[in-house]
This record gives sequence, C-alpha cells and structure tokens, in this order.
Amino acid sequence: MPTPSPLIVFDHPLIAHKMTTIRDQTTTHRPFRATLAQIAGLMVYEVTRSFKTKPIQVQTPVTNTTAHQLLGTITIVPVLRAGLGMIHGILEVMPEARVGHLGLARDEETLQPIAYLNKLPADLDAGPVILVDPMLATGGSASAAITMLKEAGAKDLRMICLVAAPEGVKRLQQDHPDITIYAAALDDHLNEKGYIVPGLGDAGDRMYGTV
Ligand code: URA
Repeated sequence: MPTPSPLIVFDHPLIAHKMTTIRDQTTTHRPFRATLAQIAGLMVYEVTRSFKTKPIQVQTPVTNTTAHQLLGTITIVPVLRAGLGMIHGILEVMPEARVGHLGLARDEETLQPIAYLNKLPADLDAGPVILVDPMLATGGSASAAITMLKEAGAKDLRMICLVAAPEGVKRLQQDHPDITIYAAALDDHLNEKGYIVPGLGDAGDRMYGTV
C-alpha cells in the first residue's frame, strides 16, 4: 500500500483572513480575482520549499560570496478556466516560470474528463511542475490532469488548490499517492450538485463575473 500523498493545508492568519473575502458572496469579481492572486502568491512560498538550488558565485559590492539559484525550469499548469485566476499571483513571485495550459471538459457519454486543450512545454521533466486548480471537488479532473502531466513527462509534480473537499483529496490519494496537495482550506464535504461546502460557489464564475 503506497503512502498517501501528503496534504498540506495552510495554517496562516493572512491566508485565513483573505479566504474570508473569497468566501463572502458579496465579494465581486474584481476583488475576488485580486485576493485569489494574493493567496496564490503567498502559497508559493511554502510550495517551493522543496525546490532544489545550485550554488553560484556572486560578487557583492563588498566581496565574492557563494549564493544560490533555483535549479531547473519551473512550469505552472493551470486547469482552465478557474486555474487561470491563480497564475498571476504565482508569476508575481516566480516571473521566470513557464505556463502550460490544460482545458478539461466532461464527456457527456462516459462522464470522464477529456482534454479540449493541451498546450504543454515539450520538456516537462526540465524542472518542477505545479498544477493549479482552485477547487479540488470530486478530484476527477485533477486526477486526469495529473495523469496527463505524468504522461507528458513531468517527474517532479505537485498541486495547488484554494479549497479542497475530503472527497477530492481521497480520490487523489488513491489515484496519485506520490503527489503533494497544497490547499488554503480543507472544507467539509461536497453537496448533491458537486459544490464544495461551505466553499465559495463556482470559482470560474466568481472570478470572471459570469455568475
Ligand atoms: N468547482 C467550483 O468552482 N466550485 C465548487 O464548489 C466545486 C467545483
């Protein structure tokens, strides 16, 4: 039995404070988007903790010293459409990262997620890959996205979400026990319509004003 993927839920007052803005149904799309980007930027600090660095010599105004540079090429992969709302905050902190895109829709017959867009760098194994999707609900599309990234060559992969449901976490732990999930909040359950409770509603609609 493989060890379940670690779930890291952020326990930080600043993130908790911003999550209140995000959850509040009176928050309109502009502050929703801005706050989402801020939370994503804050999460990057912890998510990148395991990234490897290489020593590099640098000349300061005072002396020569050994400093550090990130090793490898970082790739962020948002799942459309809601994942797009988190990448700006991440790119603020890591502007050198590349961005791949995955668009997933549900096949009406098989009910399985199918990719309508798959635009990834050819050398995904060139460094760490971060899958980004704000809502980990059933885990179906996240699991499919991870499978696609692994098939495309990703070797060093993790997922960032804003809100995770226990059902989605369980599904990913079964399907991809090697993947670490980072979440700003772990909520209670999914309702009969597949929404996370208490959640924040439809993340894509909330961020783009299409409610
Ligand atoms: N996707 C959303 O946008 N919200 C949910 O609550 C569940 C899935």
